[in-house]
Amino acid sequence: MSGARTGRAGETLPVVNPATGELITTVPAVGADGVAVAAERALRIFETGIWSGRSPRERAAVLLRLAELMERDAEILARLDSEDAGKPITECRTGDVPGAIESIRWFAEAADKVFGRIAPTGGESLGLVSREPVGVAAAILPWNYPLAMAAWKVGPALAAGNSLLLKPAEATPRSTFHLAVLAAEAGLPDGVLTVLPGHGSVTGQALARDPLVRALSFTGSTATGRRILAATAETNFKRVSLEMGGKSPQVLLPDALDYGDELIENMIEAAFLTMGQNCTAGSRVLVHRDIADEVVDRFTRAAEALVIGDPAQPETRIGPLIDHTARNRVASAVESARSAGARIHTGGLPADLHPQGAYYPPTVVTAAPADSAAVTRELFGPVVTVQTFTTEHEAIRLANATEYGLAASVWTRDLDTALRMARGIEAGVVSVNAYSEGDITTPFGGWKQSGFGGAEKSTDAFQQWTREKTVWIRTR
Ligand code: ADP
Repeated sequence: MSGARTGRAGETLPVVNPATGELITTVPAVGADGVAVAAERALRIFETGIWSGRSPRERAAVLLRLAELMERDAEILARLDSEDAGKPITECRTGDVPGAIESIRWFAEAADKVFGRIAPTGGESLGLVSREPVGVAAAILPWNYPLAMAAWKVGPALAAGNSLLLKPAEATPRSTFHLAVLAAEAGLPDGVLTVLPGHGSVTGQALARDPLVRALSFTGSTATGRRILAATAETNFKRVSLEMGGKSPQVLLPDALDYGDELIENMIEAAFLTMGQNCTAGSRVLVHRDIADEVVDRFTRAAEALVIGDPAQPETRIGPLIDHTARNRVASAVESARSAGARIHTGGLPADLHPQGAYYPPTVVTAAPADSAAVTRELFGPVVTVQTFTTEHEAIRLANATEYGLAASVWTRDLDTALRMARGIEAGVVSVNAYSEGDITTPFGGWKQSGFGGAEKSTDAFQQWTREKTVWIRTR
């Protein structure tokens, strides 16, 4: 076995800027032994009560300070994610970082508002039902929204009183490190939050298999989610929550063009935010036949107008993909659709903006066969397929013709139609006349092979990070 697989002491991971291929830094790759040591330490810290035993209000105060420090360092955090992931800096400044701050603050404020219940028993007993922290919890993070996904997990996990082990994706560890540094500055006791960088197959697997870890929250691909669930089933049945892939439809009814430029702008954001490397990307446009030509035309022109280039420049909307493997995967799916008769309206070939940069332009595809990879697989790139329908029934059938069920959007002025579509589409979130995942108050979780084991955001998120206990008291 190579060092990379066993995670030998002293091994490191390169962090490479996907826009230039330049080595930014290297970070240690924690091996299975390191995970075990960290989990034991996290359990000891939990048992001291230094964090878990504090009142929720006291924990909230520390997390609110963390949110303030994130605000102070917002520009640093934005740059770290932009450089590590190739995300446009404007996206990080206006989306990821404010969103991350909001979730830390929201879960801090929620910490002392999660009530237990008293069961409706008879007069001779009292059933107290409370939510307790799990003890040692872990989170495995993706590279597309490194800080934002860390915050979705750190907020509720720490507000609930757990000790948390956080594994950033190989490519994007630096904002997670910075978040942990800020947490320490905010007064989080040492050892409550531990960052464990490393390979998914080593560090991630060790977390999934660790007997002391009682809850694991994962965001990433469906294939990796499956491996994690199998590992937890083979070991200690830890509580698992999986946020995985998607192939989300944007459904445009005949009156959708009433929304004009707003429609097109939303479609562009849905399709190309983070270069389409977004689990909720609206990568399948389903449009009524009567308006298909005009929609394709306007959407294509808007896609061509997106500024592609250096992610550090504020006007850039499209940066590189995360690496060349990703670009090759996207390119080959588009090529095979093309050779099967699809028409490429814009994009469709890798862009050579930088010899080492993994650039691929926004791509609009029509007439791709329904069984082609471009239509059925999550490409995780800036590629949108367009399919047409004539009836609502057909639209719902197309929308649901996927193993995924994360998000969807429906555009129509007619409320009854919108509600019929929203009811019929199998997805965790259906937005009407918008492209949206909701906000921090609404739960986020996928259906079908997009999600498993509980939502993130909203007070529902606490279910991932707590377990319920009944105390049954006999009264006399
Ligand atoms: P991608 O394929 O786009 O890199 P992944 O779902 O593999 O996405 O990665 C998301 C996270 O899951 C990363 O932190 C990665 O290191 C981790 N990971 C990858 N493979 C495994 C695995 N076998 N077990 C646990 N975690 C893993």
